[in-house]
Amino acid sequence: MDLALPELSLVLLVGPSGSGKSTFARRHFLPTEILSSDTFRAWISDDEADQATTPEAFALLHLVAAKRFAFGRRVVIDATNLDARARQPLLALAKKHFYQPVALVFALPLADCLAQNAGRAERQVPESVIARHCELLEKAVLSLEDEGFRVAQTLRTVADAKAVNIVRTKMPPDHRGDSGPFDIIGDVHGCLDELLLLLYKLGYDIGNGPDGRLSAMARHPQGRRAIFLGDLVDRGPQAPACLRLAINMVRQGHALMVPGNHEDKLERHLRGRKVSMNNGFAATLNQLEAESADFRQDCGDFFSTLPSHLVLDGGKLVVVHAGLQEGMQLRDTGAVKAYAIYGEVTGELDEYGLAVRYNWAKDYRGRAKVVYGHTPVREPEWVNDTICIDTGCVYGGKLTALRYPELELVSVDAAKEYYAAIRPIPGAKA
Ligand code: GDP
Ligand code: MG
Repeated sequence: MDLALPELSLVLLVGPSGSGKSTFARRHFLPTEILSSDTFRAWISDDEADQATTPEAFALLHLVAAKRFAFGRRVVIDATNLDARARQPLLALAKKHFYQPVALVFALPLADCLAQNAGRAERQVPESVIARHCELLEKAVLSLEDEGFRVAQTLRTVADAKAVNIVRTKMPPDHRGDSGPFDIIGDVHGCLDELLLLLYKLGYDIGNGPDGRLSAMARHPQGRRAIFLGDLVDRGPQAPACLRLAINMVRQGHALMVPGNHEDKLERHLRGRKVSMNNGFAATLNQLEAESADFRQDCGDFFSTLPSHLVLDGGKLVVVHAGLQEGMQLRDTGAVKAYAIYGEVTGELDEYGLAVRYNWAKDYRGRAKVVYGHTPVREPEWVNDTICIDTGCVYGGKLTALRYPELELVSVDAAKEYYAAIRPIPGAKA
């Protein structure tokens, strides 16, 4: 029985004493991944059973867990975890560090827990304590999901626990093994002509798509790959053709892509949700009307495969639509996705009535270079190892690529202004 657990998860073993948690942990996880309440008690008092040290033991356990979260390591909590008050601080820590909280429930019958306890060489837990644990477990299983845990598995027998095989899954943004070279392309917004010209300038051969459609594929003769930073659609004249080109390139291994807020909106629309027609979405819908239902379906399927951001080149490069704090890199929670795709706003409105975006790059101190788009600028500029390469093509600016690892900027001027910016693009017009 394979059980997939993402690399960066908080794994809580939940179960009575004697249910086999510690044995299971030793079998499946690295010794350094397992934070056991017994071990922390012993570190303080030389006695793992000394309940008087419990508060201090958990204080230490939480401290170590926080350090491991910050470092991007897996954390497995080997304690009974039967009381919601014991789970709450761990949940809060996981949330703070954008970890997915997962519970593995050891719901063995009381008789089995008692039998295993009786067979223990080290020390035996009083039977009344184990009986109480089994009662608490019934309460815990009812609230784990409500608290925010994903119950990955409920083990009901000794044989169940034995049969499990834990499979570590990579985090979806984890492309650290891929070091390029890449051509990272800023917000396209339906500007197909400029996109094709930019790809040509970058040395790509433009060709037909798998269905024979003209200019629906591009590949680089030296194997370079494009990375689309999202917002291929809305406002501009040819959103479907831009999407088709990106989808074909990604599927054939000539490009990678992260979603922008405009793809997110289109995906929600394609799933039947109600979205507003503003910010150029009506134009995209009109353009999509001329396409087949299969193509629209295909776009939705494609979007659902995209990770919120990508961590590349041994962790030295992060690509993301709107920006990303260092502590969010490689993580995959809803909060991380929202930040990656929408960014952070200050809560204020500017003189044009638009939400003021928090300038996250100003405070970025991370080790990875972050290449992003989302907020149009006249000229890309490095700020603390981050660079925004959305140069407002659809607003009559230009379409820009950053070549990596060369860190050279290549751009193509917009043929015209396709959409009037509500808020002027900062910087002097070139
Ligand atoms: P915990 O209190 O939930 O951490 O339970 P332990 O992992 O310490 O297990 C309690 C006792 O049951 C120990 O003596 C283990 O050796 C034994 N035990 C645990 N898992 C198994 C198992 O799968 N089969 C058998 N026969 N004994 C087990
Ligand atoms: Mg144990």
